[in-house]
Amino acid sequence: MNKAYLDNASTTAIHPEVIAEMVRVMSDNYGNPSSTHATGRNAKVVLETARKTIASLINAEAREIIFTSCGTEANNWIIRSAVKDLKVQRIISSRAEHHSVLNTVIMMKAEYGIEVQYVNLLPDGSADLTHLVKLLSENVPTLVSLMHVNNETGGVLDIERAGRICKQAGALFHTDAVQSVGKVKFDLQNSNVDFLTASAHKFHGPKGVGFAFVRKNTPLQPMIFGGEQEKGFRAGTEAVHQVAGMARALQLSYETLEADREHITSLKNYLLGQLEINFPGYKVNGKSGNTELFYNITNILLPLGEEKTAMILFHLDMKGVAVSRGSACQSGSIRPSHVLREILPEDEIGKPSLRISLSHFNTKEDIDLLIDALKAV
Ligand code: PLP
Repeated sequence: MNKAYLDNASTTAIHPEVIAEMVRVMSDNYGNPSSTHATGRNAKVVLETARKTIASLINAEAREIIFTSCGTEANNWIIRSAVKDLKVQRIISSRAEHHSVLNTVIMMKAEYGIEVQYVNLLPDGSADLTHLVKLLSENVPTLVSLMHVNNETGGVLDIERAGRICKQAGALFHTDAVQSVGKVKFDLQNSNVDFLTASAHKFHGPKGVGFAFVRKNTPLQPMIFGGEQEKGFRAGTEAVHQVAGMARALQLSYETLEADREHITSLKNYLLGQLEINFPGYKVNGKSGNTELFYNITNILLPLGEEKTAMILFHLDMKGVAVSRGSACQSGSIRPSHVLREILPEDEIGKPSLRISLSHFNTKEDIDLLIDALKAV
């Protein structure tokens, strides 16, 4: 195991209280929530309590929360059903989305021949909303799919403004909020977001479970067919312990949100200070002017030769430090990240960039370990 885990945008350590909750549910509530006997009904209560908890934490209604196996599934489902069942003829998205959106959009174009338009990106990798307004001036049934927080740069989209723009143009708005749920507050009842997706393992919950917020009375259809689970939206026996773990994790995240944000922000400032001292000339990818990048993600370009790019992660790993280069699925590969490719000038793409992503479990010692390991590269 790594001594300093600084890759929290890839996944997070499961909170001990979440593990305890899951173990409790696995041993006490093993019933199938669809069974009508008491054992089944008990499991159903756990499931529906979790749904209510999650809904209340993001100010949604319980019926608007659909459990899925992960963020990827939730993104696939919403985009696919918007095309197939809601008959959108155009998707507006961005080239900086996570692959679960990027590749689904490409598939929808291939399968259904819909039009796909990509909104221009700002230097931090977030969508340029002025360009979105322009694209939406064409009157075509449209789904806009834009992520809230970019998993590689920490660029933040103003989803309230994006939602208003979509609403005014009569377009549906989906936001992949996998990196932000549990880390900022949401008030979905009073927002113009039609669909939002989240994943438990990004907020100290278990892997293999996520959820979609689908605004009530939106006639999506299932992607997975079978039984009547999740009101027929998502067939398959529910992973009750995973769902209970996710609800507990979200509850814990919101209970300590302010303190955690403060702690993580101070660690980030310490990291930037140490980089300034030890690596003058380093750069924060995506930073320009007064742009505020998300508090737990920092993507840096180091003033080191390109020959170090391929080995840097391996070297840090050997020293006990876990960070990521670009997005998780590309860790260890020397293929440049698709997001950095979009926002960096050509001569910087091959240089060593690292994504350092923090959680409230991190300490100053973790940062010191990283800096010492980087000095030895
Ligand atoms: N969207 C974003 C922005 C992500 O960062 C990730 C995971 O890295 C996903 C979607 C996919 O989530 P999951 O791992 O639950 O499939």
